[in-house]
Amino acid sequence: MAGPQQNREGNLEAPTRHAIDWKSADYYDEDKVLSEMERVFDICHGCRRCVSLCQSFPTLFDLIDESDTLEVDGVDKGDYGKVADQCYLCDMCYMAKCPYVPPHQFNVDFPHLMLQYKAIQHRKTGGSFRDKLFSSTDTLGKLAGIPLVTETVNAVNHWKPAREIMEKQLGVDKDAWLPSFADHKFRNSARPNETFEAKAGERTPGKVALFATCYVNFNEPGMGEDLVKVLEHNEIPWTIAEKEVCCGMPKLEQGDLDSVESLKRVNIPHLAKLAREGYALLALVPSCTLMFKQELPLMFPDDEEVALVRDAFWDPFNYLVQRQKDGLLKTDFREGLGKVAYHTPCHGRVQNIGKKTEEFLKSIPDTEVSTTERCSGHAGTYGIKKEFHKNSMKIGRPVFRQMNQVEPDFISSDCPLGGHHIAQGIEENHQNNPALSHPISLVRKAYGL
Ligand code: SF4
Ligand code: SF4
Ligand code: SF4
Repeated sequence: MAGPQQNREGNLEAPTRHAIDWKSADYYDEDKVLSEMERVFDICHGCRRCVSLCQSFPTLFDLIDESDTLEVDGVDKGDYGKVADQCYLCDMCYMAKCPYVPPHQFNVDFPHLMLQYKAIQHRKTGGSFRDKLFSSTDTLGKLAGIPLVTETVNAVNHWKPAREIMEKQLGVDKDAWLPSFADHKFRNSARPNETFEAKAGERTPGKVALFATCYVNFNEPGMGEDLVKVLEHNEIPWTIAEKEVCCGMPKLEQGDLDSVESLKRVNIPHLAKLAREGYALLALVPSCTLMFKQELPLMFPDDEEVALVRDAFWDPFNYLVQRQKDGLLKTDFREGLGKVAYHTPCHGRVQNIGKKTEEFLKSIPDTEVSTTERCSGHAGTYGIKKEFHKNSMKIGRPVFRQMNQVEPDFISSDCPLGGHHIAQGIEENHQNNPALSHPISLVRKAYGL
């Protein structure tokens, strides 16, 4: 029985995805979502392909196996939330595993079903203080970025007794890696440079506009500066969005769709203006790119500006590779990178662009790249929560092992948070401490800039 989806696993073709009907009253009908969950859980029970992807599936299968009937109908619907709680919307089950996604008649979209359940719970409860705090990356960044406050926050983040209090009061695992806040913001120090002539290639626009992302802006501005160096070395004019706030992915992960819309209202007009002017829009965090390329267009399918932004958004390494193919990128690398253990993040993989970062790093002479394609387990705010941190370390264990095994000179992931999580995992599990560097920082190094 060869259905249209049968050969889809592992290939790069995007399946059909339905828009998220989150504005309709029906979307918030709890009984309906629970019966849809029962239907999908039953299909998953018969399939079990996703058992090793995350904790959602083992949680579901345990609930079924421990029920009186040994079938989904024996599971108390009050326990369905336990499955949804373990889903951090990485999208891997949908994009890489599931043979029953639309247009298959079973019409299974596991992540967006979990999202719907979360959205209903969020409307009912308003979400926890911790979840609200840690998904407010903008507010957090602005507050923590005030001189003196920065030092205090960084000290607290790394001071054991304070972390124990945070664990008790906030439910933030005391052992989870937390980002430090930088002493300057990327957006404040960035000096757009449009002095070069914009040379459009067959495949690529000739000028770039950066969406800084909260992480680069507040936590690791150096990564943004590395990207700027690479662009300027290649004589690509660049600018930055006039105003920006968080892309909304952390709010989406909590099911807080109204906040996603508020953030979208700020970002989209500025980005759409740049898209209209012919800029390629680039963000260094794959989750943010995915937000603009997939989730917002599914939440706002009739919004022309959202579609414009989607079409102008690029994964930065896809842009560099296509630029290379256009013959418009310099190859005057001065330094090989040695052995790079590279992790391709879920939110990069589900963009269906192929392994562009790996391809680019491999084009650098004297560089050996070994790639790991499983989830690191960090997954947004999931890995820092007390109740999930241990699971996130468990999910990442095969990644830590595989990347450590190659005895790398560098470990690297496009997902900066995932990268730190892997570094922590390698240190804890293998007592090793290889240098962690974002792929764009490695490119800057290879150019000798
Ligand atoms: S989207 Fe990711 S985290 Fe959620 S159920 Fe699928 S694989 Fe698990
Ligand atoms: S999401 Fe799809 S592939 Fe994964 S267990 Fe369920 S039915 Fe199987
Ligand atoms: S940690 Fe990175 S790889 Fe894992 S879900 Fe998040 S974005 Fe994807």
